[in-house]
Amino acid sequence: MKATLAPFSFTSLPYRTNSSFRSPSLLLKSPSSASLTTAARGSVALKATTSTEALREGIAEFYNETSGLWEEIWGDHMHHGFYDPDSSIQLSDSGHREAQIRMIEESLHFAGVTEERVKRVVDVGCGIGGSSRYLASKFGAECIGITLSPVQAKRANDLAAAQSLSKRVSFLVADALEQPFEDGKFDLVWSMESGEHMPDKAKFVKELVRVAAPGGRIIIVTWCHRNLSQGEETLQPWEQNLLDRICKTFYLPAWCSTDDYVNLLQSHSLQDIKCADWSENVAPFWPAVIRTALTWNGLWSLLLSGMKSIKGALTMPLMIKGYKKGVIKFGIITCQKPL
Ligand code: SAH
Repeated sequence: MKATLAPFSFTSLPYRTNSSFRSPSLLLKSPSSASLTTAARGSVALKATTSTEALREGIAEFYNETSGLWEEIWGDHMHHGFYDPDSSIQLSDSGHREAQIRMIEESLHFAGVTEERVKRVVDVGCGIGGSSRYLASKFGAECIGITLSPVQAKRANDLAAAQSLSKRVSFLVADALEQPFEDGKFDLVWSMESGEHMPDKAKFVKELVRVAAPGGRIIIVTWCHRNLSQGEETLQPWEQNLLDRICKTFYLPAWCSTDDYVNLLQSHSLQDIKCADWSENVAPFWPAVIRTALTWNGLWSLLLSGMKSIKGALTMPLMIKGYKKGVIKFGIITCQKPL
């Protein structure tokens, strides 16, 4: 769950249109930057750096404040569930939790990850560590999770201890864009619904590739915007407007498409690059979250949790609209690092 009230101006974030995303070097360039003086260029760069810093702080604060509420209502997986397409059955709470586990299993299956290969896992953007503990138990692997939120890292470590997993599973506060790990360390590089928070997708992918071991798998499951058609440079204004409204409430920088991720992975000469659109498989998720928020218990917990959660709840219908209109896509992108 990622909705919140922005405590700073999101217009100052390093937003990029889809076309500027394709040239990471354009990250700090305004349309007229070619004519800027050196001093002015310096100030543009400084502003962007500050904005990125503000985004990091905002994400950390958001998850510090809202993770407890999410855990209370939805448990330790802070990601969509995976459902059969067109499933209209009203699932019980446990049904939705099973769908969240299914999301992990479907992701592993899609990527062709087999048990014997997985000894070391990094969980990039780990939340309170639901995936890490699941993967560590499933594979008997060591797992390290990173998050920007100190509250999440502590809770994740406490849960690992409670499940006697501390020897193999640990969590720390670290930035996915500057991971504190040596090159080639992990057989499985796992990013479940964290990529959408990354202000620099090229750097994000570069870090995932760097820490993957030769022969290791990278799995990115993330919110994307639709792929652009041939000749289309940007989304339609109304589509961009919808995403901007979500970005203003959620701690998200500019979105990209699954095609953009595939292009980035191709630029690193990775193997077996595959992607899929699972939007239909996640369709029941946000309506279910809204239903739980609208129970007495949910409303009361929301009120106690504060404005960030309340604003978040109010933004959920925009996510549903985005999926229904085909602007938002739930994507999985995976590849293997060559041996
Ligand atoms: N993968 C988890 C949590 C998803 S919520 C799950 O499936 O349960 C998004 C997570 O991404 C949060 O833990 C947030 O702190 C983390 N995140 C966002 N930006 C990050 C960054 N730059 N570096 C590390 N973690 C980040």
